[in-house]
Amino acid sequence: MREKIADKKARVLEIIDIFDEVYADADCTLDYTNPLQLLISTQLAAQCTDKRVNIVAKDLYKKYPDVYAFANADELELREDIRSTGFFRNKAKNIIGCCKMLISDYGGEVPEAMDDLLRLPGVGRKTANLVRGDFFKIPGIVVDTHAKRLSNRMGLTTNSDPTKIEFDLLKIVPEEHQTAFCHRLVYHGREYCPAGRPRCGECPIAHLCPKIGVEKRLANRN
Ligand code: SF4
Repeated sequence: MREKIADKKARVLEIIDIFDEVYADADCTLDYTNPLQLLISTQLAAQCTDKRVNIVAKDLYKKYPDVYAFANADELELREDIRSTGFFRNKAKNIIGCCKMLISDYGGEVPEAMDDLLRLPGVGRKTANLVRGDFFKIPGIVVDTHAKRLSNRMGLTTNSDPTKIEFDLLKIVPEEHQTAFCHRLVYHGREYCPAGRPRCGECPIAHLCPKIGVEKRLANRN
């Protein structure tokens, strides 16, 4: 039977309470000191681990200390600087294009409006929501690979399209919890609910989770 929205909201609140305890310190796992670094590191994190991005970012932000340095970067050189994050050709092109637009249209500052962020080369809803939530403290839902997988297993959405998932979660996760909830989904995905073999037997929210598709997943692997 289809779960009523009110019941889903109540279930999410119980999950949030448990996440608050288990992942009290959960935060963005990308290192940054300003919104430009967060914007660029989030782009670099596509198809790459945050750990690898943080390693690359250390030297990168010394070499390119501001938006002007990135906008004027030699594309071939920038490619090499970020090569180990994968998809480096596209990422270098987008980072330079993004910084050029920040200078030409936004006075060199990272804008906070969703429509403005989405105009920037290489910036999609995931990156925009992350920058808005973590830097500007504007509520929003970041749908990364963990949020996508977990929200389906947890029965919070039946969609696979990230934008549809985002809007499903916006309806049931209270605004004040949205940013933290998404960070905690990442931690939970890594700790208990990875793509391959979820550890439902030890999972602290097992009693609140319908474990959609998990049996099938495990059967396919055995
Ligand atoms: S109960 Fe299983 S499927 Fe549900 S969140 Fe926990 S590990 Fe994932």
